[in-house]
Amino acid sequence: MCAKSKRLMDAAFIRRLEGIVGAAHVLRSPGDLRNYQYDGSIDQALPEVVVLPGSASEVAQVVAACNDRGYSYVARGAGTGLSGGAVPETGGVVISTGRLHRILDIDVANRLAVVEPGVVNADISAAVKQHGLCFIPDPSSQAACTIGGNVAENSGGLHCLAYGVTTNHTLGVEIVTPEGELVWLGGRTVDMPGYDLLGLFVGSEGTLGIATKVIVKLTPIQEAARTMLAVFNSVEDASQAVSGIIAAGIIPGALEMMDRVSTQAIEEFAHAGFPTDAEAILIIEVDGLRASVDEVAADVRDVCRRNHAREVRFAQTQDERERIWKGRKSAFGAMGRLSRNFYVQDGVIPRSLLPEMLREIAAISEQNGLQICNVFHAGDGNLHPLILFDEKKPGDVEKAVVAGEAILRACIERGGSVSGEHGVGTEKRDCMAVQFSPSDLDVMARVKAAFGNRGLCNPHKIFPTSRRCGESSRRMQHLAPETAAATGPAF
Ligand SMILES: Cc1cc2nc3c(=O)[nH]c(=O)nc-3n(C[C@H](O)[C@H](O)[C@H](O)COP(=O)(O)OP(=O)(O)OC[C@H]3O[C@@H](n4cnc5c(N)ncnc54)[C@H](O)[C@@H]3O)c2cc1C
Repeated sequence: MCAKSKRLMDAAFIRRLEGIVGAAHVLRSPGDLRNYQYDGSIDQALPEVVVLPGSASEVAQVVAACNDRGYSYVARGAGTGLSGGAVPETGGVVISTGRLHRILDIDVANRLAVVEPGVVNADISAAVKQHGLCFIPDPSSQAACTIGGNVAENSGGLHCLAYGVTTNHTLGVEIVTPEGELVWLGGRTVDMPGYDLLGLFVGSEGTLGIATKVIVKLTPIQEAARTMLAVFNSVEDASQAVSGIIAAGIIPGALEMMDRVSTQAIEEFAHAGFPTDAEAILIIEVDGLRASVDEVAADVRDVCRRNHAREVRFAQTQDERERIWKGRKSAFGAMGRLSRNFYVQDGVIPRSLLPEMLREIAAISEQNGLQICNVFHAGDGNLHPLILFDEKKPGDVEKAVVAGEAILRACIERGGSVSGEHGVGTEKRDCMAVQFSPSDLDVMARVKAAFGNRGLCNPHKIFPTSRRCGESSRRMQHLAPETAAATGPAF
């Protein structure tokens, strides 16, 4: 079944939605709809209606109503996604999890919590801190993004290098399938028998159903942590230090890198104490038992010095540590000081190739006449080049898309991937055809079909619509939504 076009949504359907969630929770005014037309990526599209269910059962009823009428629907958490996942490209219904924000159970003995999907990431750790526990995945957006979005994107974060990303901290998910059924994948214990459907769902970008409850693993807060800034006069040296740390058998809790332009912008914005004249800085945090953490930190410092760090500075107080992390987390926000718009990429490469990849990004910047800053999770080779542009300047959007495409192609050519943590969504779907063979994509499409997908659950995401990396974003800038929807994939 294909998603119906915008013009056909009827009054009886709206009345049915109002009967399910209450009229106050069905939004239709142009102003309200505009709030749901975008996420953090470039693409935008207006929904025809937004509903805010108050329970899992209401989500299931809304999905059933959409199925009966053939309207597409997309789940939305906080809309901080960076790949167009929550953008309702075919119009239809946005199902917001804004009212599903309760922490239902904190089970300290079993170190887990049961939460609704609209719970904000940082609120989980805040709620369990009194028990000496935390929820490890900490995206820089953690003050806003929701656990439903984290599960859908299999989000990573600053402290995921040593401890794993969302999939490693999710025990179970209750979902509404695209057929409208409520089912559990996984549960309160690890390693459920049978196929790992939970693993499949985490990272499926809202295309295999809607999460209505999530059981997350809680982890004891580490006894001690040492946070340090290593300052370099060359990007090359900083990149070599990253490889050197891992090669020495040390996996820090966090290992982040930023270049000079980023550091300058962040420092002006967040006053984190970053040196503004360094070509690159590393933020490294080692944590663990109090007895061993200083020794590991000293080893890291030695590796940095061997790679020509001009300074390795340890945070002396909790306040200093927090300022360093606040600076790192405000990196995207700080870009507003440099440019009207930015376009963030999320490619991954083997970390040993960081120096040559950063040179390649500099060349792509030069070729396209756009400044590109780098702030990224260096420890796992997950790059976040920020392409700066001005949407009001003719040709800039196109140049940004071309530069983004070139970066992702360069990642694929180096044996990497088009996405480390932000997902594919609409933004990178056409790069999927570059990274994967038609047979690979066919298997993925069959998995999607096995979830009973009628083509209505977050359609047009992940799967390519053309054979050119970067094509769709460029096209979506210029076509009317109806035309763009009609060119969707067959998947
Ligand atoms: C400043 C900034 C910093 C960021 N830093 C990081 C980072 O460090 N690491 C990282 O991984 N990401 C990062 N992101 C990206 C983003 O915050 C994450 O992808 C986050 O998980 C999205 O959560 P959300 O609630 O905003 O989801 P949304 O943007 O609302 O949705 C994202 C996707 O999840 C789906 N979805 C939402 N709720 C559900 C649900 N209940 N069931 C099924 N599908 C659902 C949507 O359909 C969509 O496909 C950053 C974004 C910003 C703006």
